[in-house]
Amino acid sequence: MQQILDDIAAEMARETDRGKVADYIPQLAHVDPNQFGIAVATPDGKVYSAGNASTLFSIQSISKVFTLTIGLGKLGNELWTHVGREPSGDPFNSITILEHESGRPRNPFINAGALAVVDAIMMGHEPKETLGEILQFVHFIADDDSIRFDHKVAASEMEHKDRNAALAHFMKAFGRLKHDVDKVLGVYFHQCSIAMNCQQLARAGLFLVSNGVNQHTGMRVINEQRSRRINSLMMMCGHYDGSGEFAYRVGLPGKSGVGGGILTIAPGKGSIAVWSPGLDPVGNSKLGLKALEMLVQKTGWSVFAN
Ligand code: GLU
Repeated sequence: MQQILDDIAAEMARETDRGKVADYIPQLAHVDPNQFGIAVATPDGKVYSAGNASTLFSIQSISKVFTLTIGLGKLGNELWTHVGREPSGDPFNSITILEHESGRPRNPFINAGALAVVDAIMMGHEPKETLGEILQFVHFIADDDSIRFDHKVAASEMEHKDRNAALAHFMKAFGRLKHDVDKVLGVYFHQCSIAMNCQQLARAGLFLVSNGVNQHTGMRVINEQRSRRINSLMMMCGHYDGSGEFAYRVGLPGKSGVGGGILTIAPGKGSIAVWSPGLDPVGNSKLGLKALEMLVQKTGWSVFAN
């Protein structure tokens, strides 16, 4: 595995077409596109890595996997009255589909869906209590208490909130959000601002590798059925309108973020975190996708083969 990751990192270092760094907030626009990191955590507790695997980056939408897990823990199947579970085929911040579907977002991984999940898990609490709960959950699954929010990123998101605020107000107009829009946005922007490196993120994904149990810590996080279902959602909806392409090229459940990270789960085999800040036109890490394609070719990992 170490050799495979070293080869991938060396190949990625040679790439000249690295995609375009997200520029909707200055904190992301200033990240150096020449970075690439990859880490694989395996159920036996080992973490292999190469490249800039210990550099912190903004996990952005990858956090939606964690809030979905929390939401299912708190509400169970009732969560699905707040949000659907169908691929959207639309960009991550699209508003058009919401109009047609009475403000109920298609799935928990587009922005509107993540806002609905935040609203559902707040349950009348103040944002700081919900944020404490989210961070504590991330510490638990990653087995790492050093993980933090990046308050500068969150503040910058709030300053440039118009698009997400429009989505939230639109849902509120349909009676879909219970809490104050700015409070929901505040929680959402903070969850997106969580800073992690590839090694931490790979470890955080381990519970989805082994049927809900983090085999590194020995702790059960969720039950087996829920683990399978979260993986299904990641497979179908984890890459916005690039989800079909990701399934075709990688064949594993994954979730991307506009910070350039991708968390990918190879059930029974390992949790893979890859990061390179340059994005393709639909907002997924360009080299991240390429690197994962190489990894599955070299390992044969796929949910469609054995
Ligand atoms: N904070 C970003 C937004 O809401 C997250 C987008 C993403 O990673 O997809 O615009």
